[in-house]
Amino acid sequence: MTTTVTITGAGGQIGYALLFRTAAGDMLGPDEHVRLRLLEIPQGMAAAEGAALELQDAAFELLDDIEITDDATVGFDGADHALLVGARPRGPGMERGDLLAANGGIFGPQGAAIAASAAPGIRVTVVGNPANTNALIAAAAAEGVPTERFTALTRLDENRARGLLAQTLGVPVRSIHRLPIWGNHSATQFPDITHTTVDGRPVLDLLAAQVGDVRAWLEETFIPRVATRGAEIIRVRGSSSVASAASATIDHVRDWVHGTVDWTSAAVVSHGEYGVPEGLISSFPVRAIDGEWRIVEGLKPDAWAQTRIDASVAELVAERDAVRALGLV
Ligand code: NDP
Repeated sequence: MTTTVTITGAGGQIGYALLFRTAAGDMLGPDEHVRLRLLEIPQGMAAAEGAALELQDAAFELLDDIEITDDATVGFDGADHALLVGARPRGPGMERGDLLAANGGIFGPQGAAIAASAAPGIRVTVVGNPANTNALIAAAAAEGVPTERFTALTRLDENRARGLLAQTLGVPVRSIHRLPIWGNHSATQFPDITHTTVDGRPVLDLLAAQVGDVRAWLEETFIPRVATRGAEIIRVRGSSSVASAASATIDHVRDWVHGTVDWTSAAVVSHGEYGVPEGLISSFPVRAIDGEWRIVEGLKPDAWAQTRIDASVAELVAERDAVRALGLV
């Protein structure tokens, strides 16, 4: 079997990291051959071409073919997976409305091209920010493609939260389970430790001994640190997170295809779960079963958690209303 994976912004930093991990089989597995389609804007074509030369030199045995294009219809032709990484970054002095409009000009046509030329089972993962709303725009333009096939990445936020908790408790990250992200991939996101376990024990029991007032630690340390980790990386590293963003994208798609053993996080379309307005693409605790994301149901967020979730969802509503006013959804 050969799976076609289209990566937009393939000439950029995250694209560069993603290409090699995908070609190595980390995303789809060691038995799955891959056909890569690199989609770029004209200014990004040379960088994508250079990455393709390096992919050739890496002699990945699973990599059957590489095609580079700046034409979305060609780029998504027969695509089984679309990793939408290329987006318009917020420039100096750019208002949110301008940013949403600029990204509407990218993700609307890409959604239409996906509907026109992708494989019937296309699965879309949006990484480019504002990821949730970009996914909403693409889904709205993709007539005939179920909205359930459009997702946005919040796995990086979850991975960051697990990593930070592991460090705080002095345990390996593999010990930590059930730490979902709710809402928007933004500073309002809510990493929720209510049901988190460490080697099967409730984390809430362990944290008090470690940090004292758990609620204060969550509000003043943990949640802000997770939500602003991207800025911390930029400060320390001198440029934005790349390998970790690509790695989380690999985790997201791998789990979507191969299934999860426990909860994880993904921004998926709401059918009204937990009061999230229908149609919004919001992060939830999810499982992947038989190739589909299923929102974990029946949880009962306490009043504090619900306020956090509601605040992030309100931001998504505001973004949706802004793109609606622009005629993008
Ligand atoms: P990156 O590869 O570093 O980032 C790409 C996108 O991923 C940005 O929107 C960025 O958001 C987002 N992102 C999401 N999570 C993270 C994270 N944790 N850390 C960093 N970024 C994150 O950007 P480059 O500028 O290197 O590359 C972008 C490429 O996309 C360029 O080659 C450009 O030509 C291309 N492009 C392609 C388009 C297309 O195919 N139609 C359209 C537009 C651009 P944020 O900006 O918030 O950091």
